[in-house]
Amino acid sequence: MPSIIQIDSAPNSVLSNPLRIGDNALTLMLGPCAVESYEQTRAVAAAVSRAGVRVLRGGAFKPRTSPHTFQGLGLEGLEILRAVADEFGLLVITEALGVEQLPLVSDYADIIQIGSRNMQHYPLLWAAAETGMPIMLKRGFMSTVAEWLAAADHIISRGNERIMLCERGIRSFDNATRNVLDVGAIALLKTTTGFPVIADPSHAVGRSDLVLPAAKAAIAAGADGLIVEFHPDPPTALSDAEQAISADEMDRFVAEIGRIAVAVDRHLPHANYAPAH
Ligand code: PEP
Ligand code: MN
Repeated sequence: MPSIIQIDSAPNSVLSNPLRIGDNALTLMLGPCAVESYEQTRAVAAAVSRAGVRVLRGGAFKPRTSPHTFQGLGLEGLEILRAVADEFGLLVITEALGVEQLPLVSDYADIIQIGSRNMQHYPLLWAAAETGMPIMLKRGFMSTVAEWLAAADHIISRGNERIMLCERGIRSFDNATRNVLDVGAIALLKTTTGFPVIADPSHAVGRSDLVLPAAKAAIAAGADGLIVEFHPDPPTALSDAEQAISADEMDRFVAEIGRIAVAVDRHLPHANYAPAH
C-alpha cells in the first residue's frame, strides 16, 4: 500500500515539485463548501494561494440533505473551479455524486472526492477507481472503520491504490457538535494502515469557532492533512455557512496548524506560492 500519493504540480504553480500527500509536509485543502460564483471562488483561490495552500476545494455537485436547498452549479461550478485554480496555480478537489458525473469531474479535477453519503456506493467507487485519479474517500457518518477500509478495498480491487481516507466526523447520541470527530480512528489508521489520512474538522464540528481546535487535535493525532471550508463572506454562504472560516480566521488557522505540525515533527509549507496579483 503506497503511503504517499504524488500529484504533479498545477500547471501555473510557481512550484515545480509535485504535491506529496502523506509526506512530512502537511497538505491543506481549503475552499468553500459550494462553488457559488466566479467572483466568490476567485476570492477564495487568491486567499488560499497567498496562504501557501496548494489544493482548492469546492463542491459543484452538492449532496444536500434537503432537495429544496442549493444543489450546486454543476458543470458551471467545475468550469469556475478549474479556471481560478489554473489562474493561481492550485490543484482542485471536488466531489462526484454519481457514476454519470465521473467523466466530467475527472476532466476538471485533480482529486476526486467521494462524499460521506456515498462511501458504500460501490459502483461509484469502482468507476472512480477506473479513472486512475487520486481519490479522497470520506468516512460514512454512520460507518465503522472496518466498513470504511472495506470501501477502500473496493477501489483497490479496480486497480487504483491512490486513496486517501478522510475522517469527517461520525453521528453519535450527542448532537452538541454536528458530528463527532473520531480522533482515535485517525491515530488507529496511521498505526495500522499505509493510507494517508485527511481530517475534515468543518463537517465534524459544524461551527467555525471549533474548526481550529478540532483541526489541531487531528494533526496531533497524526493526520497528514486537512480539508477545511473557507468562505470570503461566511454569513452569505449558500451551504454550510455556520462552519465556514473567514479570511481573517484563515491566516490564524494556517499559522496555528503550522505550530502544531512542528510539535509532531511535521511541517506546513508556508511560502507564498502565489503568482503576484
Ligand atoms: C463536503 O465536503 O462539502 C461534504 C458534503 O462533505 P461530507 O460528504 O463529509 O458530508
Ligand atoms: Mn459542506
